[in-house]
Amino acid sequence: MIETFKNFVGGQWKASKTGKTFENENPASKGSNLGFFQSSGADDIDEAIGEAEIAFRTWRRTTVAERQQYVSEFLRLLKESREELSRIVTLENGKTLRESRAEVDSALVEGNYHLTQVSAFYGHTGPGAARDITTWVQYEPLGLVSVISPWNFPMNVMCRKTLPALLTGNTVVFKPASFTPWSGIFMASLFERAGLPAGVFNCVTGLGSSIGNRIVEDPRVRAISFTGSTAVGKKIQAQAAANLTRTQLELGGKNALIVMADADLDATLDAAVTAGFSNAGQWCTSTSRILLQRPIAKSFLERLVARCEQMNVGDGLLDATHMGPVAGPQQYEDIRNAICRAQTDGAQMIAGGDARVSEDGYFIRPTVFTGVRCDMELFREEIFGPVLAISEFDSLDDALKAANDSIYGLSSAIYTSDLRAARKYIDGIEAGLAHVNVHTGYKEPSMPFGGVKQSGAGLPENSESGLEAFVNRKAVYLR
Ligand code: NAP
Ligand code: MG
Repeated sequence: MIETFKNFVGGQWKASKTGKTFENENPASKGSNLGFFQSSGADDIDEAIGEAEIAFRTWRRTTVAERQQYVSEFLRLLKESREELSRIVTLENGKTLRESRAEVDSALVEGNYHLTQVSAFYGHTGPGAARDITTWVQYEPLGLVSVISPWNFPMNVMCRKTLPALLTGNTVVFKPASFTPWSGIFMASLFERAGLPAGVFNCVTGLGSSIGNRIVEDPRVRAISFTGSTAVGKKIQAQAAANLTRTQLELGGKNALIVMADADLDATLDAAVTAGFSNAGQWCTSTSRILLQRPIAKSFLERLVARCEQMNVGDGLLDATHMGPVAGPQQYEDIRNAICRAQTDGAQMIAGGDARVSEDGYFIRPTVFTGVRCDMELFREEIFGPVLAISEFDSLDDALKAANDSIYGLSSAIYTSDLRAARKYIDGIEAGLAHVNVHTGYKEPSMPFGGVKQSGAGLPENSESGLEAFVNRKAVYLR
């Protein structure tokens, strides 16, 4: 008996007015169906926006302490549901249970950060320049906010946007990615159980290509927080411009790891494997380019290939699995095609290939290419899979030039024991995140999370900016 999941709109579970549903496949098991989800249309979005707008009138008057209570209850339920939700994430996304648990834990850490930070956030008042005038900046909620999330972190990305939006008094219409609708619906059920007033959080499933426009273009929408591809991000930015709707865009990356000859090689290998192959490389801050200083290139690569060979690729629910399948058939085709084109372009595949993987799911082995030149697609385009592009360099200047030769600027890392090299890299790298002897995927909630160049626009997530993204600053002068 396959379950049918409904949308959560205005505090009620509702079937789409289209009468249509779509299936959710487990990528570790081709042809499976985890459930039917609503294939929503424009009318469903319209209704959700209407409900969120009505709910905003009351929600905006709640005190910060009241909103904290709801969010704190939500986080308590989230913690309680850690195992159940991790299983859902693994089933619909493919990542290993360990990775799914880490995703939930990260959402809990970030959620708790915003929960406490929001009290300090409202603390800005001061005496004015004129003695009898008092000034302050009053933070006011924007209204209803659209949240659109990708499938690679189906619950964490949604929390990182939704919780700060709610804590600052906004209401939310959320559209999960179509590969991973179940996690989104599950989160809606947690908000319901936390007693959140009707209409404050709404979740509508359906294809971005058909309903995306409606969530973006409606003038009642005051902000759009989107995480996904750069192509869709650009489209959203252009559409949002029509109403000057605020956007927070977290987009693609082509993150470089620079390895200097004086690096601790064991630590660097751990970083390459962790940031290269966690979540099957479908990670916006994953390492996808490795720039090796020539003297250590040979020994580094021998050891990297050995580490790849040791990895078990399989069903994420199994304990022995190090890396799960990629998220679905389209993703599988795209990555396989990129691998074929890299070979045609003349890069050498030193790890990877089809042998030793089951045909039951969308499995791709950890893949490493050497001899990658800056003009190759493999160096320039985001593959979003377990594929590492390796190039060699002589000086740090050369490495920085190559690392910055990209339209993207999300994350980056250098491994070195030379403080001067580290400092030069920090100042020279064009990226939102700069790591020294820390892998490219590492982040903390008190630090801004966002990219430069075509990796993002608008205020970064997390830190104070994660809250600021969802408020208007009203300048008050009181005599
Ligand atoms: P995507 O294709 O851009 O989709 C992201 C979301 O946008 C999905 O919910 C999708 O719905 C929806 N969508 C598609 N077309 C739309 C439209 N015209 N208008 C409005 N919404 C639309 O990206 P993805 O393949 O899911 O995710 C992978 C990408 O996300 C990679 O580029 C990765 O780097 C990026 N990412 C960035 C970050 C970051 O923080 N910078 C974090 C994670 C991922 P459907 O699923 O229904 O198509
Ligand atoms: Mg799925």
